[in-house]
Amino acid sequence: MSMYFDYAATTPLHPKALEAMMPFLTDNFANPSSAYTPAREARKAIDAARKQVACAIGAQPEEIFFVGSGTEADNWAIYGILEAQKKKGNHMIISAVEHHGVLYTCRHLEKQGYGVTYLPVDSEGFVSPEAVRGAIQPDTVLVSVILANNEVGTIQPLKAISEITKAAGIPLHTDAVQAVGHIPVDVNALGVDVLSMSAHKFYGPKGIGAQYIRKGTPILPLLRGGAQERGRRAGTEDVAGIVGMATALTVATKEIAAEASRLTGLRDRLINELLSIPHTRLNGSRDNRLPGNVNVSFSFIEGESLLLHLDMQGCQASTGSACSSGALEPSHVLTAMGISHELTNGAIRFSLGRDTTEDDIIKLVEIVTKSVGRLRELSPLYDDYLKKG
Ligand SMILES: *Cc1c(COP(=O)(O)O)cnc(C)c1O
Repeated sequence: MSMYFDYAATTPLHPKALEAMMPFLTDNFANPSSAYTPAREARKAIDAARKQVACAIGAQPEEIFFVGSGTEADNWAIYGILEAQKKKGNHMIISAVEHHGVLYTCRHLEKQGYGVTYLPVDSEGFVSPEAVRGAIQPDTVLVSVILANNEVGTIQPLKAISEITKAAGIPLHTDAVQAVGHIPVDVNALGVDVLSMSAHKFYGPKGIGAQYIRKGTPILPLLRGGAQERGRRAGTEDVAGIVGMATALTVATKEIAAEASRLTGLRDRLINELLSIPHTRLNGSRDNRLPGNVNVSFSFIEGESLLLHLDMQGCQASTGSACSSGALEPSHVLTAMGISHELTNGAIRFSLGRDTTEDDIIKLVEIVTKSVGRLRELSPLYDDYLKKG
């Protein structure tokens, strides 16, 4: 039985993606920029992959650029759009609930003298389009709002936001890493100018991503060197990665409606069962959230302790805030949603995916219920609460 509940962190490689990648990991190792037959085959495979990725998000193939990761795509969007409009201004607007790939890049630039407005969110994590309008200044050159949040799964009203940025003539970037392959994403329906994605979040390989760039968007390259990706992203192409990404996305897109509805059913069942544990809170929106995302806070206990407890029982989940430093910094996403420090510490994310079954959910609920009970028995906070009544 699969006890993996961390699909938002990464997903296993789809067997079809691996199969498509194999020739480029073995026999055909040619550099696609070379002039002989195997190189031309590699080039052809990249061209086909570009078409597949474009098709999955309603873009033109010329608007797709392969990059090394979702993080690179986020960094490129911010640096590239700012640099291209240096003469126009140095102010950007981002939501307070961005992934670190956007958030830390902007915080860094703020220290270098750029202006950043962090848009507040409501208690479910939604950005208000009117707040975007209100934050626009004459020197604003970029708006970046994450499409679907990686911690709480909230899906933002990008369409309404893009109507405002379009009218103001400001490029709109969205980090769509959690959305692509999981919910329908169409760049024209959303009206975004730049969109970032990452293969390993939709059953593709790690270390490969793509950037959608609408024709005419002001953006300079992040990486300079060779003429790969039509001069906009230097570096020898990861042919296998690109082919694996396109294959995984094509499979995910084909199954998107059925899989989203299956996962939504499992998600809602898990939410309901977990909320029947006393002093439990759902973080994020009840309905407008990613099909596979469940994020709950258990009062009186630490999410980190619960994680360790679950791990010992073979269950893999996450606190949602990647505490890569090991320092237990409270999640900026939950904090921006106005959630108390105690509940932020008690938050835990279960993300469901392709191999999650109803049986897994039943088993998980059993294990979590027991673990929360045990940890509360040991919790001085809970003890205080019981004494005070
Ligand atoms: C995983 C993730 C990223 C980073 O993608 P990598 O390919 O791992 O660098 C960026 N944004 C969001 C929302 C993510 O979930």
